[in-house]
Amino acid sequence: MTHHDTIPATPVAAMRADRGEGPLLLFAPSVLQATARRFLDGFDGLVTYAVKANDAEEVITNLAGAGIRAFDVASPAEMTLVRRLVPGAALHYNNPVRSMREIEAAMAAGVVSWAVDSPGEFVKIAARVPSRGTEVAVRVKLPVAGAAYDFGEKFGATPQEATELLRAVAAAGFTPAITFHPGTQCPDATAWAAYIRAAARIAQEAGVRLARLNVGGGFPARRMDADLPALEAIFDTIAATTRAAFGADAPGLVCEPGRAMVAECEALLTRVKAVRESGAVFLDDGIYGALAEAPLMGATDRIRVLAPDGRARCGAPEPRVVFGPSCDSLDRLPGTPHLPGDIAEGDAVLFFGMGAYGQVTCTRFNGYGALRRQTVRALTM
Ligand SMILES: *Cc1c(COP(=O)(O)O)cnc(C)c1O
Repeated sequence: MTHHDTIPATPVAAMRADRGEGPLLLFAPSVLQATARRFLDGFDGLVTYAVKANDAEEVITNLAGAGIRAFDVASPAEMTLVRRLVPGAALHYNNPVRSMREIEAAMAAGVVSWAVDSPGEFVKIAARVPSRGTEVAVRVKLPVAGAAYDFGEKFGATPQEATELLRAVAAAGFTPAITFHPGTQCPDATAWAAYIRAAARIAQEAGVRLARLNVGGGFPARRMDADLPALEAIFDTIAATTRAAFGADAPGLVCEPGRAMVAECEALLTRVKAVRESGAVFLDDGIYGALAEAPLMGATDRIRVLAPDGRARCGAPEPRVVFGPSCDSLDRLPGTPHLPGDIAEGDAVLFFGMGAYGQVTCTRFNGYGALRRQTVRALTM
């Protein structure tokens, strides 16, 4: 038997082979590489990856293998991780609030692009970082809706503040850029179009020719079975709006997907610990574990239930209260997911599209949350 043959082909094969205890993340490098190629082929600019969405080593190395050469990092620990795994990668430091020690760490790591959203933070950088060849991207926020949740509340300068800041960046000799993040899980391109037009107005007002425009992350992942995110339509609107708004002076585009890059490459395999007389289902993972985003993002129907022998449960779907393993009553999936009526203790419950913001925010609350990982060839049933 070659090493190859030991990698389970599917989630069912992984479940049947698993002798361990506790929730298991199933990782499919083939899915990750295909998604990376989709961004690289479809997005008309530099594709970077926002490390915070999933910082597993095999995720970073597979992205590098697929051709991703630049990474959005927010902390010295993320810089160290990417430097170790992808030594030649370009690091974009897009967390606009930094301590002095973090600035020093970023300089030592060779960061090539820095985001700023306030005069005070720009002064901190300008006093230390040589301007030649260094990009400073002014982060703008607009009051636009559309995302599952908004990032604008925490970071970003108003268009007026951004105009001043952009002038200061250019005057100090840095390579001027604008960046924004429309918020996570944006279903369509409306928010990007509004931001791109605002960026063009800001650059014009400031009298600065932008070298680059970073359109952030926020690309949608497949939340429900019926969704198939139209990434290419969003890429096309971003490119067309940029051409229309900037004309001949169009800056180079950068994107930094987190969620949409990694969501599909992992599924979460949990087990049913008990089914109560009331019908409530207790799983071995919950909102303090890899299902942390469930209360924020809402219910998903991308769930499959398997009997211990690997056959799909196919009883008529029934609404169920689904609890996680901890003793906290908040530890419950939102709503009442419809699960097969014949679900039973010992069954496997698979959640698809779990590669983003799951493992990275998992806690060890109540002694749970020790996630295991298993590579699989594919995530098809
Ligand atoms: C979190 C983050 C991203 C990734 O966002 P997604 O919604 O996961 O695509 C990109 N850029 C910045 C600056 C971020 O903070």
